Amino acid sequence: MSDPINPAASAPVGPASGSALDAEGFRRYGHDVIDWVADYLRDVSRYPVLPPVAPGDIRRRLPAVAPEHGEPMEAILRDYQEIILPGVTHWNHPRFFAYFPANNSGPSILGEILSAALGVNGMVWQSCPAATELEEVVMDWLRQLLDLPAPFRGVIQDTASTATLCALLCARERATGFDGNRAGCFGRGAPLRVYASTEAHSSVEKGVRIAGFGSENLVSVSTDASLAMDPGDLEARIQGDLAQGRRPCCVIATVGTTSSTALDPLGPIAEIAARHGLWMHVDAALAGSAALLPEKRHILAGVERVDSFSFNPHKWLFTNFDCSAFFCRHPETLIRTFAINPEYLKTAVDEQVTNYRDWGIALGRRFRALKLWFVLRQFGAEGLRARVREHLALAQEFRAWVESRPEFELLAPVPLNTVCFRYNPGGLGDEELERRNTRLLAAINASGRIFMTHTKLRGRYCLRVSIGQTQTHRADIQEAQETILTALASLGPGL
Ligand code: PLP
Repeated sequence: MSDPINPAASAPVGPASGSALDAEGFRRYGHDVIDWVADYLRDVSRYPVLPPVAPGDIRRRLPAVAPEHGEPMEAILRDYQEIILPGVTHWNHPRFFAYFPANNSGPSILGEILSAALGVNGMVWQSCPAATELEEVVMDWLRQLLDLPAPFRGVIQDTASTATLCALLCARERATGFDGNRAGCFGRGAPLRVYASTEAHSSVEKGVRIAGFGSENLVSVSTDASLAMDPGDLEARIQGDLAQGRRPCCVIATVGTTSSTALDPLGPIAEIAARHGLWMHVDAALAGSAALLPEKRHILAGVERVDSFSFNPHKWLFTNFDCSAFFCRHPETLIRTFAINPEYLKTAVDEQVTNYRDWGIALGRRFRALKLWFVLRQFGAEGLRARVREHLALAQEFRAWVESRPEFELLAPVPLNTVCFRYNPGGLGDEELERRNTRLLAAINASGRIFMTHTKLRGRYCLRVSIGQTQTHRADIQEAQETILTALASLGPGL
């Protein structure tokens, strides 16, 4: 697997072996795979960002049943190159501008390899003391880097969706005196209400459903001109619920909304939450990383009053998926919500240690702290800040470019790394603009040079460029601009 770009150039490596790899076999293929990864990271920009495949193309090339007999590694690695790789969307391509980033880096990948090699399950301290204690340490490093309150204790969850669900479950249990866990939530008392802005991520509604609140009890709070939660509307909706005999329970603020990175004002929301006894969770899935920068730390002003907070190093902190940092002011509430203590999990040191199995949903836990530790040490705080700072500057350059071109319309402020805009030659309604921008986006992505996605803001279809890949630099932004203009020109004036 020597050439990551041209599978035909790959020479077979070593003799066929259908049995489990011994140390020498592992070493041999391990070296090949590491060489391949190093080349891939260097050359990833040579791939089409979005693979030119149709639904079913990959599956059709794979056998319907698992092999009865072991196959040689050469065959597996060849199929990886010839079948799997052509169907890969290259998330770490420097011109991946879609969704939010899920970036990675060399140290992160090396940490992940070692974690896979150890294969530990860090469910309790005893099951891997180093996994627990390193997680405690790196989470406290992150807490300090983001200047989060000292009482916050951290735990790594798989995703921000899980972090939000954990917060919702804590909120439910605190509001019910831990009766939800004991007696169930169905049909008991007045409904518990959860508040989030109209721009909150869909994982909030999913969590509200799973935690038993019911979607009907998720209250959508309106946003201001910058698409941030309007605290006045939050207060009014809480008052309306109280007047109806409902029980306000939890508010979820978003710092860096998914569509446009709008910033809910934490201070005023926290003041309302405290007055009404609501659990307040902050979902900063992407934007938390920006708070590493002193000049951006203001986006978390007010966080000192909230109950829980999460952000994803797997989005914008060069730590490969999955790794979501969840901080809670009340670990005792978290533990009381999740702890279950069967005989077979008890240990002699339970009173002295952190057993992270009680800090979330799953019992089994990967050793995710290792890759985060590698990243934090190898980049150093200054290295992390420099990368994030460059992304923020590039986003401002892209915004300025959009604003300088009469055929484009900027559709939201750009406080962080994401620019929402549309092609708008003037004189057309929103529906026609949506049709044209949909065609434009398809042409842009078909080029394979860049990958962007879309969203809607206040019903208006937007193109969306989110800048946060580890290797993205100014030349990539310029190529994005050229690609957009070329696609526009290729579609002609009628689009
Ligand atoms: N919250 C916000 C604001 C997001 O933007 C996203 C994903 O982009 C999520 C939550 C969900 O993230 P995850 O995939 O880690 O669950």
